[in-house]
Amino acid sequence: MSRLLRSVAVAASLLSPAPLALAQSAREPIPLPDIARPARPSAGAAPKSATPEGRPKLVVLVVADQFRFEYLTRFGSDLGKAGLRRLLKEGAVFEGHYGQQNTYTGPGHSLVVSGSYGYVNGIIQNNYYNRATNRSEAMFFDPQAKFLTGETTPADETSPRNFVGTTVGDELRLAEPRARVVSLALKERAAIAMGGRMGTSFFQSEATGEMTTSTYYMQTLPAWVQAFNTKKLADSSFGATWDRLLPKERYPERDDFQFESAPKGMGRSFPRTVTGGLKAPGPDYYTAFQQSPFGIDYTFAFAEAALDGEKLGQRGVTDMLAVSISPTDLAGHSFGPYSQEVHDLVLRFDKSLESFLSSLQKRFKPGEVLVVFTADHGAVPIPEWSTEQHLTGARLKKAQLKDAIQRALSSAYGSGEWVVALEDPSIYLNRDLIQSKKLDPAQVERTAGEAALTLPGIAGYHTRTQLLNGWLPPTELARAVARSFYPRRAGDVVLVQEPFSFWGKYAEKDAGSTHGSAYHYDTDVPLVFLGKTFAPGFFGNAEMVDAAATLARVLGLTPPAACEGKPLERALR
Ligand SMILES: [Zn+2]
Repeated sequence: MSRLLRSVAVAASLLSPAPLALAQSAREPIPLPDIARPARPSAGAAPKSATPEGRPKLVVLVVADQFRFEYLTRFGSDLGKAGLRRLLKEGAVFEGHYGQQNTYTGPGHSLVVSGSYGYVNGIIQNNYYNRATNRSEAMFFDPQAKFLTGETTPADETSPRNFVGTTVGDELRLAEPRARVVSLALKERAAIAMGGRMGTSFFQSEATGEMTTSTYYMQTLPAWVQAFNTKKLADSSFGATWDRLLPKERYPERDDFQFESAPKGMGRSFPRTVTGGLKAPGPDYYTAFQQSPFGIDYTFAFAEAALDGEKLGQRGVTDMLAVSISPTDLAGHSFGPYSQEVHDLVLRFDKSLESFLSSLQKRFKPGEVLVVFTADHGAVPIPEWSTEQHLTGARLKKAQLKDAIQRALSSAYGSGEWVVALEDPSIYLNRDLIQSKKLDPAQVERTAGEAALTLPGIAGYHTRTQLLNGWLPPTELARAVARSFYPRRAGDVVLVQEPFSFWGKYAEKDAGSTHGSAYHYDTDVPLVFLGKTFAPGFFGNAEMVDAAATLARVLGLTPPAACEGKPLERALR
């Protein structure tokens, strides 16, 4: 039993079956209920919920971007009554696990709604080297789609066209074309991934601060979105102060740490004024806004506008609303998972979630809504923080990696531009050069991998040839890498980082943190179902691919095309 699970079990035994008591001391554990007995009835009996009349009117998926499972226990005693605590008390609670190595935002959100891994759904990284266009592009970049607001570049996410297969939302719409699937987030890639191929996704324009979408979905924003934008809600937080929600003593973390990044005038310590360093709202302000609690409130405000605007759950069919909370991730990158900022944002999220849940309660009768809460990945500590704790931890720069590989290949096979791109965890080699020199790609890949292995923070590598042929060691880690290997978009060498080390976009900076590995700090997230078909209780571990399978089961749908999960029947009643 992991330390984490033990702490959950201890928490459960301490608090159950006593009624929910709000924490008085800062150290009181979160009241996760007892691990429920697997009391599922006989096989073969279809759950009642598989009938249309048993279906909820609305499925609400809330994904906290970058939210570790352990936040529920570590910050548990500070949670309010009716937000996360209510989900934990009344919902079916699992410790979810991502079984693929590339724990990034696009891959995580895509896996949640499809139950499929990147090796088949194609969403393996946030960015990749497109061999057709010979350039790096965002995974959700689509040259056929443009933002309705602002400039569009290949670094932007504009449509789900690179996602292969279906999502639960797509299946919902295939079964009932009148069903509406609406997804939203401040970050494009989160919204787009959750919308699947047949839903409608909205996100915040970094140019104007308004909610927008792309031409993949529509040519003009619906009237309700335009009405929402005229309120200028994002701008109304300009100059607002973000201070701690609770008294300072309730935060055991250090506030100011030299290796926190403090982008756009955010500063490293409380209190902070959110202006983006500007005199009036503009793009830098929106960047700062997106990692503040104001961004969380704004997201939920838009979610409520979507409920009204699209009449979700009010039209005699099951609709789906998917909401991803981006500020937890953006602030997590800046301040790391052991910061006061992340601690505070979790509490702010909890408060906003509480009012959102209560608003759902006002709109719908009990049992009409199914709420699913989860996260797309966890987070690694800031490496300098880790090394201070006597852990390992390194930031490896792309230039270092490129140089080492370039040198090794030049000395083995002669001069040339050997590396065409580095998009973590993939190294893309110059295949034309390999071919023109009549070299064996397998051998060149190995030479490149061995060169990477000489650098700090790299634990291992798998080559394209090995992955395509299934030449993998019989380890969980290798399996996780294979599940993130989509041949058309992955590199020629896929690197495995050591625990607590990383490379890629966030290692290019000298401060802040990230995620993206197959280690538990990145893979373990909450997975909670709150609805009449789910029994309350803590049901132990689940694979994250099971989430979509479970949703398909209770909605009476065909599972998404490449779904590999199994319905979590032990939590169904
Ligand atoms: Zn994310």
